[in-house]
Amino acid sequence: MRLRSKKCAICQQPFPVLFRIKHEKEGDWVFVCRQCWQPLSQNNPDYVYGGTWKAKK
Ligand SMILES: [Zn+2]
Repeated sequence: MRLRSKKCAICQQPFPVLFRIKHEKEGDWVFVCRQCWQPLSQNNPDYVYGGTWKAKK
């Protein structure tokens, strides 16, 4: 079985776990890794958390 993976929308690296967030006003949902998620979520009034995506269920 092939391991599913998604790429982080910011750093373009594949990760087994990504966070589904909005970080721009009127923006689309994006998947970001933990490292990129921290600066996007802090002090951001447009930040919305939409769940965690995992390669393994
Ligand atoms: Zn990233």
